[in-house]
Amino acid sequence: MTTPLTDLSPDQLAERLTALRAEYEELQAKGLKLDLTRGKPGADQLDLSEGLLRLPTGHQDAAGTDVRNYGGLDGLPELREIFADLLGLDASAIVVGGNSSLTMMYQVVTWMLLKGGPDSPRPWSQEPVVKFVCPVPGYDRHFTMLAELGIEMVTVPMNDDGPDVQAVRALVADDPAVKGLWLVPTYANPTGAVCSAEVAAELIAMPTAAPDFRILWDNAYAVHHLTDTETKSADALGLAAASGHPNRPIVFASTSKITFAGAGVAALAASAENRAWYLQRLGYASIGPDKINQLRHVEFFGDADGVRAHMRKHRDLIAPKFEAVDDALESRLGGLGIATWSKPTGGYFVNLDVLDGTASRVIQLAKEAGIALTPAGSAFPHGNDPHDRNIRLAPTFPALADVEAAMAGVALCAELAAAEKLAE
Ligand code: PMP
Repeated sequence: MTTPLTDLSPDQLAERLTALRAEYEELQAKGLKLDLTRGKPGADQLDLSEGLLRLPTGHQDAAGTDVRNYGGLDGLPELREIFADLLGLDASAIVVGGNSSLTMMYQVVTWMLLKGGPDSPRPWSQEPVVKFVCPVPGYDRHFTMLAELGIEMVTVPMNDDGPDVQAVRALVADDPAVKGLWLVPTYANPTGAVCSAEVAAELIAMPTAAPDFRILWDNAYAVHHLTDTETKSADALGLAAASGHPNRPIVFASTSKITFAGAGVAALAASAENRAWYLQRLGYASIGPDKINQLRHVEFFGDADGVRAHMRKHRDLIAPKFEAVDDALESRLGGLGIATWSKPTGGYFVNLDVLDGTASRVIQLAKEAGIALTPAGSAFPHGNDPHDRNIRLAPTFPALADVEAAMAGVALCAELAAAEKLAE
């Protein structure tokens, strides 16, 4: 039986600290240079899509449109069908765009600020204050986008079945300044949580003081399963239509972590009114998307089952890396009572919570041993983790042996920082 670190006597703790410091010096002496910072696909994953580089062979989509020319603002119909099947939505709701879903999110928020949506009393920028509800820990780029645009962020806990609904309800019910909520519904970045159908239904139906409240439903990891259980996302648009708030959710997805990160295709799906609103604004900014890249993706996959088969190849490459993370944490920290971590069944991250007040120290220790981790607090608005305990681990990019080496180091740093803290 492992004794929890918190149960050690002062003498035992001092002894342990000495041993951990010696071990840490050995780690430093290895001169490692490892990086677990960003959720990027590994080179072997990118190789799975190498065939794209020799496509398309044709010039026309199914309707006979020449993809080499301008036009088709809402994207190739065949690709809209594929996204519709994958996301469980109707193709008529979908716009397939350029290479980045984050850009589509940025467009939506910016245009809500500048113009307002179909149901806005006035553009958001004319409101004295605009606030968003942010489940934490969450995706750092969602938060930096809002900070850049001057939108205030109020946090709620991200639970295993989605955002804490009672906390969200309390924030949105009476305050018309609260205009939106971020949500990564499936295999959330970074916790891996999957929003249940019940939580989704409540978020979509709940009363909000703002008539133009939006849920930015960022389904970046909809098909990124790590096990045989291919969890289905809740049907945001169907629930919205049924609840009388058709315009509330706007769904986003992309193939950034399916084909090439930054050179895939992104999609937005929304009510007919929101879709027309988006396309109207987009029409002032673009004469049409890169349909050659869209056709290349259609030819490469054929249909949604082609995407699903492709994702199983990704899973085979990355699931062992997630197992390596869990093994390293369990073998060193299991039973010590100083850390908890997620065991995601999909997505790109493992969420590690270390002893309160030690995350920055763990990250510093790791850095000084040549292991780069995401900066402390990055999963919180303005980088502020109130408990200084959260660390986002991204194991997909390094080779498996490097993940093993890095994680053994991270686990040591977590134990050392906890022992230092308890000895204070
Ligand atoms: N949303 C989430 C939750 C993500 O984790 C990422 C990628 N790290 C993105 C969006 C970015 O997607 P894209 O490449 O389509 O802009």
